[in-house]
Amino acid sequence: MHITNNLGLNLGCHLSIAKGLPKMYEMAAFLEASCAQVFTRNPRGGKRREIEDAEIEQANALRQQNGFKTLICHIPYTVNPASPRVEALNFAKQVLRDDLRHADRFGGDFVVFHPGSHVNSGLEAGIGRIVETIKEALNHYDGHAILCLEHMAGGGSVIGSDPTELAAILEALNWDERLGICIDTCHLFAAGFDVRTKEAIDATLEQFDRTVGVGRIKCVHLNDSLTPLGSKKDRHALIGQGELGVAGIKAVVTHPVLSKLPLCLETPVERDTDYAAEMDAVRALL
Ligand SMILES: [Zn+2]
Ligand SMILES: [Zn+2]
Repeated sequence: MHITNNLGLNLGCHLSIAKGLPKMYEMAAFLEASCAQVFTRNPRGGKRREIEDAEIEQANALRQQNGFKTLICHIPYTVNPASPRVEALNFAKQVLRDDLRHADRFGGDFVVFHPGSHVNSGLEAGIGRIVETIKEALNHYDGHAILCLEHMAGGGSVIGSDPTELAAILEALNWDERLGICIDTCHLFAAGFDVRTKEAIDATLEQFDRTVGVGRIKCVHLNDSLTPLGSKKDRHALIGQGELGVAGIKAVVTHPVLSKLPLCLETPVERDTDYAAEMDAVRALL
């Protein structure tokens, strides 16, 4: 099987690697997904499954054979590189350093993480800890995978819903080429950046261009939003069934800039095979 059904989009979805990387690539081929996202480790317990060389070789063969393009690896949400708690911060440092190398080894193109929450310890202190964590992760790292900060919906002490905060982090790291930004259509909308028309997306991207630079945006999480514009809530909805709606999602997937980036669904489905309907809902808009 060769992935041909995406009508020019690099479209995919979040998939499980619990049954191994080759099974994940088989599922991607079944869904005709040319990109996919996987967790670097168990999203709850934080444990990491060791992946043998033989499994990686088998996975890479499938990947090539199917014409699969982009693998995004996501660090668990519970990891907080901005935490004022020493233990939590040390864990975040260990995970970022280890998972960047781990994901690079098994073929990850982008390793996405949430900047985290300063937990009422102040934005500046939180940003300082994120910078320190990234610095340690990049120390002696010369892999292919790019470490991406995710733009967030905001709320509470969450860092990274304002692109100037992401720019401050990149600036403190001298705009290192091993760093990128991941955006999420639900997070953008919840953070107050409209994406429901071409004009709204242009205005949103201009805000990003003035801060992090549009060229830094490496991948897009394609989600509808359960909550309204500026709600600061991170609640994903099925494609076309949230506040973005069919017209909003269509504006995203036909936008001249966004349509060139890997678009990865993280919509609330029960099981991986349910993404078939979500992928179809997107393709129907093209
Ligand atoms: Zn995320
Ligand atoms: Zn989200």
